[in-house]
Amino acid sequence: MSDCEDLGNCPDARVEKLYEYLDGALSHQDIEDIKVHMDNCTVCTEEYDLERLIRSVVKRSCAEAAPENLKAGILSRINEIKTGGQTSSAST
Ligand SMILES: [Zn+2]
Repeated sequence: MSDCEDLGNCPDARVEKLYEYLDGALSHQDIEDIKVHMDNCTVCTEEYDLERLIRSVVKRSCAEAAPENLKAGILSRINEIKTGGQTSSAST
C-alpha cells in the first residue's frame, strides 16, 4: 500500500488529480477538493506551479510555430477589405 509514496511525496497522493485539474477534466466538486488540498500540501502546490509553467512554455512555443498561417490569414483579410470595403472618400 506504500507504493504510492513515489507520487511526489504527497501524503494524499493527489498529484494525479493535479494534471486532470490542469486539463480541465475535473468536476466542480473535485476542483474545490484539490484547491483545499493544495492549501495544505506544499508538494502539490509546487507540482501544480511547475506543471503550469511547463504548459505555458509549451503553449508559447506552439504559438511561435504558427505565425505563417496567421500572417497569411491577416493578409488575405486586408486584401478583402482593400478590394471590397473601399470608401468613396478620394484624397488625392
Ligand atoms: Zn498533495
